[in-house]
Amino acid sequence: MIKEVKLHQCGCERCKHNWFTRSKKLPKLCPNCNSPYWNKPRKAKKSPTPKKQPPKLPTRGRGGIFSTSASQDKTPPMKTYAIPKRRTPRRPTQREIDNAGIGGAT
Ligand SMILES: [Zn+2]
Repeated sequence: MIKEVKLHQCGCERCKHNWFTRSKKLPKLCPNCNSPYWNKPRKAKKSPTPKKQPPKLPTRGRGGIFSTSASQDKTPPMKTYAIPKRRTPRRPTQREIDNAGIGGAT
């Protein structure tokens, strides 16, 4: 006598393990990874978003959009040194001359 046995193929959603079971009931655990959630696909996690990087500001040189020509970057602007005006020396007052004793009559 041949007893017909239906095999049920089970596939683990976690470890992709495939096995056959004779019972109609679903196995509780995956025989490979022992996961009770072998029949449930793993919840789709949020894909790791790359860290938001601050927008790249155009830099001078290195092909920034502000650099129109290479000569602009290489030659610094001529420094103009402000020449201080000659201050006319303050004339000493007569009193100061007398105190210093330059004025003659001491
Ligand atoms: Zn498994």
